[in-house]
Amino acid sequence: MEKFDIAVIGAGAAGLTAAAFAARDGWRVAVVEAMTAGGQVSNVDAIDNYPGLPAGTPGYELGPLLQEQAAEAGAEFVLDTVLRVDGDGDDYLLALSEGHLRARCVIVAAGSTKRRLGVPGEDPLWGRGVSQCASCDGPLFRGLRACVVGGGDSALQEALHLSRHASRVTIVHRGASFRAQHALVAKLHQADNVDVRFNTTVEEITGDSSVTGARLRDTATGVDQVLDAEGVFVFIGLRPNTAFLGQLADLDGQGRISVDAHMRTSRPGILAAGDIRSDSAAMLAASAGDGVTAARSATAYLRRRAS
Ligand code: NAP
Repeated sequence: MEKFDIAVIGAGAAGLTAAAFAARDGWRVAVVEAMTAGGQVSNVDAIDNYPGLPAGTPGYELGPLLQEQAAEAGAEFVLDTVLRVDGDGDDYLLALSEGHLRARCVIVAAGSTKRRLGVPGEDPLWGRGVSQCASCDGPLFRGLRACVVGGGDSALQEALHLSRHASRVTIVHRGASFRAQHALVAKLHQADNVDVRFNTTVEEITGDSSVTGARLRDTATGVDQVLDAEGVFVFIGLRPNTAFLGQLADLDGQGRISVDAHMRTSRPGILAAGDIRSDSAAMLAASAGDGVTAARSATAYLRRRAS
C-alpha cells in the first residue's frame, strides 16, 4: 500500500493549492479526486473576481493550470473516489473504490454538491430540461425559455450565462431580495431578457418526457401559477461532501467541517480547506487561501510529530 505524508482529498482550488504548497515544503503528497481538476469552477465560463486577473478567466482553464502547478511541485494524482477515512494508529487509512492509501496527515478539500429542490418532477425530468449547469447545457436552450431557481451568486451568475442563449430567463427566488454580490445584481439589471419573481417558490416541475414549465407559488398570497419554460436550473446552495469522514471530525450546524483559524479540525492530523469548512467565504480566492493555510498547518503537524 502506498504511503504518503499528506493525502489531499479533492482537486478544486483549495485542494490543488494545498497540494502545491505542501509538495513545495518537501512532503510526499497524493491528491485523490474522482473527477477532473478544478472542482466547482470547472463549469464557470468566466471567473471575474480572482485577484490579479482583471480580464477574468474561464474556470475550465484555471483548473488545469492549478493542477499543473501542483504536479510540477511534485504532488501525485490518484483518480479515484474516497469511500472512507479511518484513523489507523498515528496514520490515516483512506479506503478508495480501488484499494487503499495511507497518509500521516489528511487535508479534506472535497467541496460541496449542489442541493436539489426535492419537488415533484425534479428527479424524473433530470437531464430532460432540469439542470444545474448553465455553461454545460445553456446552448441547448437557444431561443427557449428558462427558469432559474435561487437568489445567491450561483443563481445570478448562471442566469446571466443563460440569458446569452435563452429567449427569456425568469429567476424565481423565495426571498424578497437577492443575497448575491452587488456586481452580479447590477449586471442582471442590464440584461433585458431576464425577469425576477421574488417571494415565490417552485412547487412542481411539469412535463412528461421533457420540461414544459414550473408551478410557482406566490408566498404572500398562496396563489399558484404555471410558468411556461423548457428548462429549470436549480441553484439553491451547497451540501458539503463529508459523508466519507463518518464521525472522524466535528461538523458545524450546517454540516461543514469545524475548523480553527489554522484549518485544523477537531481531529489532530486532519485539516479542512475550501467551502467544505465552517465559515468559508466560498469564493475561489478564499479557497486558495485556505489551501495555503492548510498546507502550512500540515507541515507544522508533521514536524511536531517528527520531533
Ligand atoms: P447560497 O449563497 O447559499 O444561496 C442559495 C440561494 O438559494 C439563496 O438565495 C436561498 O434563499 C435559496 N434557497 C435555499 N434553499 C432553498 C429552497 N429549498 N428553495 C428555494 N430557494 C432556496 O448558494 P450559491 O448561490 O450556490 O453560492 C454558494 C457559495 O458560493 C456562496 O458563498 C457564494 O458566494 C459562492 N459563489 C461565488 C461565486 C462568485 O464569486 N462569482 C459564484 C457562485 C457561488 P435565501 O436567500 O432566502 O436563503
